Amino acid sequence: MNQLTDRYQRTIDYLRISITDHCNLQCRYCVPFGGRSKLPMDDILTYEEMFTITRAAVAAGVTKIRLTGGEPLMRRNMLQFCRWLADLEEITDLSLTTNGVLLEKMAADLKAAGVRRVNVSLDTLRPDRYAEITGKDALGRVLRGIEKAAQVGLTPIKINMVPMRGVNDDEIIDMARWTETVPYDIRFIELMPTNGWAKDKHSRLLIPIDEIRRRVASIGPLEDLPTIKTRGPATYAQLPDARGRIGFIAALSHHFCKTCNRLRLTADGKLRACLFAEEEVDIIAALRSGAALPDLTAIVQSCVDAKPERHCLNDDPSPFRNGRAMQAIGG
Ligand code: SAM
Repeated sequence: MNQLTDRYQRTIDYLRISITDHCNLQCRYCVPFGGRSKLPMDDILTYEEMFTITRAAVAAGVTKIRLTGGEPLMRRNMLQFCRWLADLEEITDLSLTTNGVLLEKMAADLKAAGVRRVNVSLDTLRPDRYAEITGKDALGRVLRGIEKAAQVGLTPIKINMVPMRGVNDDEIIDMARWTETVPYDIRFIELMPTNGWAKDKHSRLLIPIDEIRRRVASIGPLEDLPTIKTRGPATYAQLPDARGRIGFIAALSHHFCKTCNRLRLTADGKLRACLFAEEEVDIIAALRSGAALPDLTAIVQSCVDAKPERHCLNDDPSPFRNGRAMQAIGG
């Protein structure tokens, strides 16, 4: 089994694949300026192409895959792609990040197709506010989707919330309290200045993770949990007698780059070693001009060799001007 290691001795074993740029929500802090672009179908990787690139990444040392988007459940025949990935014996973890709108009807099939667990993005538990933030009155569907995912065993379920001052931060405590009754991980993520809306108002909207933690700790003593072996970006704590855990992801205020183990493949076939760097490798071009599997594996390796030590978000948000980062992002 190969191991992919970068210049800073980080082991890169995790590939996040954006399988579509389409989304059924228009979240204010996420949708690119002027609306989400719909790339022409010819510019989007086919499942066969994604699978070939995945096999090249697996040959280089990747063992974990997360599917994201856009909204991954929107792409037709995505279950078939999940089955292909789940059948790769080197893959030890296949997961998905979703807004949950289509989860109720797809959860059982996802489980049967080999997906192990899901992360669901949910910024509010209030129906009106959900419609305001996302542009769709769909909170009930998302909550039913989460329940269904739990029922069929797509666990542990992680719920990602982006608290924004004056938008939904009065629900930080309600969200944290949810862990007292459900076995979900509720994770708070700092708002990143990734689109025009979030960038213009960033200093007003951003709630640093230390403040979020202080607010959660006002409910009761928070017990810190040991860092999890999977080396994700979250630190975890728990309220007394809670069923679920509370995660804190400091995308900006504390760099988590030291433990970053990720590579990203965008829907239009660009490989990125860092979500927040402008550098990307045009792996779709190589593939479409006939590169064989070992050539693609070499491309994956060279992309990892160029992985920056840390993201540039705090210094220079330029990657967000052209919306490229949003095509790569994924919870
Ligand atoms: N559609 C899927 C979903 O909603 O989970 C996957 C794609 S979505 C872009 C992935 C995650 O990125 C979501 O959890 C969303 O909250 C997060 N996200 C998007 N824009 C963000 C921003 N400006 N700051 C922090 N997180 C952001």
